Amino acid sequence: MARASTTQRGYGHAHQQNKKALIYNHDDGTECPWCGQPMYKEPAKNWDGHALEGDHNHDDGTGKPDKTILPKRLLHKLCNIHKADTIAEHGPKWYEKHGLSSNKNQPIDWPSGRIIDWQNLSVS
Ligand SMILES: [Zn+2]
Repeated sequence: MARASTTQRGYGHAHQQNKKALIYNHDDGTECPWCGQPMYKEPAKNWDGHALEGDHNHDDGTGKPDKTILPKRLLHKLCNIHKADTIAEHGPKWYEKHGLSSNKNQPIDWPSGRIIDWQNLSVS
């Protein structure tokens, strides 16, 4: 049995072109939003040794990524695998690097990208 093509897996031509554009426009050394390590166009320079991948981070309404919307940012391949089918701005190592924790005692990034400051949260 042949492997499913990228199109059959839901990653069609538009997705491939989008990924090429994201990588083309990528500034080498930009911090990975998941692990906080630099990301490079050249796979060998990345800590995981793989090419960067597009990250699906738009909620489809059920808390899962909407894969019909083209990715807007890149992650390391292994970071993307670690993130799996979740919606999140950053991973644990990113929070660690920035001296933040994702528990309720610290401001955290909510999936929409807003910062929730738990210390100064007021109900109006
Ligand atoms: Zn990463």
